[in-house]
Amino acid sequence: MKSHVRVAVIGGGVVGCSVLYHLTKFGWKDVVLLERDELTCGSTWHAAGGIHTLNGDPNVAKLQKYTIELYKEIEEISGQSCGVHLPGGLVLAGTKERMDWIRMAEARSRYLGLDAHVVSVDEAARRMPLMDKRYFVGALYDPLEGHLDPSGTTYAYAKAATKQGAEIYRKTKVEDLRQRADGGWDIVTNAGTIFAEHVVNCGGLWAREVGRMVGLELPILAMEHQYLITEDIPTLPAEELPHLIDFEGEIYLRQERKGVLLGTYEHDGVPWSPRQTPWDFSAELLPSDLDRIADNLEVGFKHFPALAEAGIKQIINGPFTFAPDGNPLVGPVRGLRNHWVACGVMAGFSQGGGVGLALANWMIQGDPGFDVFAMDVARYGDWATLAYTNAKVRENYGRRFRVTFPNEELAAGRPLRTSPLYDRMKAANAVFGASFGLEYPLWYAPAGTPPVEEITFRRSNAHAHVGAECHAVRTGVGMIETSGYAKYEFSGPGAEDFLNRVLPNRMPAIGRIVLSPMLNANGKLIGDFTVARVNADTFHVFGSGPAEQYHMRWWESHLPTSGVSIRSLRSALMGLSVAGPHARALLASLTDEDLSTDAFPFMSYKRMDVGMVPAFVGRISFTGDLGYELWVSPDYHVALYDALLAAGAAFGLKHVGLRALNSMRLEKGFGTWAREYRPIYGPQEAGLGRFVNFRKGDFIGRDAALRERESGGKLKLVTMLVEEFGADAVGDEPVAYDGVTVGWVTSGGYAHWSGKSVALAYVPAELAGRNDAFAIEIMGAPRRATISAEAPFDPAGTRMRS
Ligand SMILES: Cc1cc2nc3c(=O)[nH]c(=O)nc-3n(C[C@H](O)[C@H](O)[C@H](O)COP(=O)(O)OP(=O)(O)OC[C@H]3O[C@@H](n4cnc5c(N)ncnc54)[C@H](O)[C@@H]3O)c2cc1C
Repeated sequence: MKSHVRVAVIGGGVVGCSVLYHLTKFGWKDVVLLERDELTCGSTWHAAGGIHTLNGDPNVAKLQKYTIELYKEIEEISGQSCGVHLPGGLVLAGTKERMDWIRMAEARSRYLGLDAHVVSVDEAARRMPLMDKRYFVGALYDPLEGHLDPSGTTYAYAKAATKQGAEIYRKTKVEDLRQRADGGWDIVTNAGTIFAEHVVNCGGLWAREVGRMVGLELPILAMEHQYLITEDIPTLPAEELPHLIDFEGEIYLRQERKGVLLGTYEHDGVPWSPRQTPWDFSAELLPSDLDRIADNLEVGFKHFPALAEAGIKQIINGPFTFAPDGNPLVGPVRGLRNHWVACGVMAGFSQGGGVGLALANWMIQGDPGFDVFAMDVARYGDWATLAYTNAKVRENYGRRFRVTFPNEELAAGRPLRTSPLYDRMKAANAVFGASFGLEYPLWYAPAGTPPVEEITFRRSNAHAHVGAECHAVRTGVGMIETSGYAKYEFSGPGAEDFLNRVLPNRMPAIGRIVLSPMLNANGKLIGDFTVARVNADTFHVFGSGPAEQYHMRWWESHLPTSGVSIRSLRSALMGLSVAGPHARALLASLTDEDLSTDAFPFMSYKRMDVGMVPAFVGRISFTGDLGYELWVSPDYHVALYDALLAAGAAFGLKHVGLRALNSMRLEKGFGTWAREYRPIYGPQEAGLGRFVNFRKGDFIGRDAALRERESGGKLKLVTMLVEEFGADAVGDEPVAYDGVTVGWVTSGGYAHWSGKSVALAYVPAELAGRNDAFAIEIMGAPRRATISAEAPFDPAGTRMRS
């Protein structure tokens, strides 16, 4: 065994082998893989081997496509077959809702460059003669689906990696990880200690235990998963059956030799080793329990009668791991230098290649090269405890083949984090959503109406109530809970210099606010912030709640050794905002401060008393209206709320939720992190160029941003008005020009005050000036859309400034 290496990958499942392969492919040859037993001995060896591109997140779907297309390459390099069969795949729909979903998936696949398309039941039955057509109304067909040999594939990655310089040490169990002062790792194994500059945890079923060696509790849980293989079926057609998902039966199936492999995700799934994975488990199966999946099998046998007549040859029950949302956990771990993870990969054969590609890029280039936020380990915080993970994974497992509607909020693991106003807002009939573990009001049902939203792809029962909330803000005043934002304090004599380095805008004067995107070295957007200066050495910075760990990780990795400290104020600063033409009068009734525009203009920030409450007040509002954001410590949150509510009665103050806020920011053309602002766009493309200050000196991403300014960027973010037909875009719909897909929607919804259906979308820059032939595909049909030259609401920004 070597004594010193650049990278040690822990775990020889399909994911570890893919990471090893990609590191060598991109030039890091001094890399080893440590496997406690034999390659594939975790969840890899008994996988069903299904491969597909379908994923709720378009960026992950792209990486799945990459994975499937990679198999040829590793076969060629390794000389080892992956046993890939690509007979295509069908997703069968039995209900109208599922057809809506299928149409959305088809539309999305169009802008991703995938070829999935809706087919009739007859066409589906031609490809899958075993199905009983009576139970279905349509299907999605994707030619890039099939199955492979899990073991052969893992060995193909491993052999290709070793051919390119990697070494693999089998029977080498990592028992401890000790970090040296220089950031490298002493890796203690049963075969001796090896030093690695970087460690990658690809421990699969044991990733949690490997994480615990460095004090991490990764949000991962293994679930038991069963599939069966039938005896030979004499009526099988000559052509191989497609891979198939039957959403009504909640089963998947494919051909296995002359029989069928059929698996299911039962509703009441069973976690495996919920607290501690046994180290002596290896290449083993779990006892099968057909009773648990009997209901699914019954539906399956009804939908595919030939299966009911075939005997069962084999039943497999094996464990594999999931993160709470079902996507992998990938990337550098905040606070641990040179420590990387690639685990929680529930579809290793569809995703493993993309995971390896992203991680190797990240380690070598400092950037994953794609938008991988959906699988970034930093999307979780300390609130994703073992028990939360358990609740969420079980929910997610049971819903694997269920429709999740765009307005659906899933119930498991809630409420967990609540602001001090939770009970007050509940009493006010709020309908809650949850983000980053925190409950926040989506909208408020009128008194006497149950606070329940029907789930739908169209406009829900919330529509009129959200409209009333928007109306209240535009004509009077509304109160919005804003504690879900991420909040940070930057302090110290070096705070201004540091912020000037990591943010491209010039930092504000004391008592003022600036908006600034954040760029990576490639000049792409990795954040957008509101920066308020409290005093010479203290800044309050506000950003996207779900990106808190992602941003903290970035800042901490760029922090100088002294002069500035960063503190997350997630639970230390709670927020309320008041917005609308009466917002100033309402606030003025509670403070002695002069709130006139001369004394406290737009983009001001000041510590002031509001009623009896000491608060920081910023004159800014995401509604695009006159508005104030108020920030207080949690012990004052209720008092502030009560004071605003009592004083607000005279001004017709109304509770307003995040749905209304979304409607108002859409008609103002305001983008938001993770939708309009992502690491695949530059500031010019996203319309944030005015917040990049090239005159202030150097900052991260300056050179690339300068190049983008000179070229103008390839894309342009535009506000589109969509023809009225009773539903709205929600995001991820393709935009066509003259019938050809040219762009995609990032957010959409109904702008209640303007009375328009609005979509924010990226289109090629050269088309952004055209307006004659755009259409957005919504609910299975192209809907006429026009680019709005200016924001539908108050394009001059008079309302927020006056
Ligand atoms: C029944 C079943 C059916 C499935 N069907 C499919 C499917 O159809 N399609 C699909 O894409 N996926 C499927 N999967 C999921 C797939 O198997 C997993 O996504 C994949 O195997 C995960 O690979 P991994 O490398 O992350 O983990 P693992 O395969 O668990 O590998 C982890 C490796 O790390 C090693 N290790 C752990 N700790 C240490 C240590 N301390 N020192 C050294 N080595 C260590 C382990 O020994 C193990 O070899 C299925 C899984 C099951 C159980």
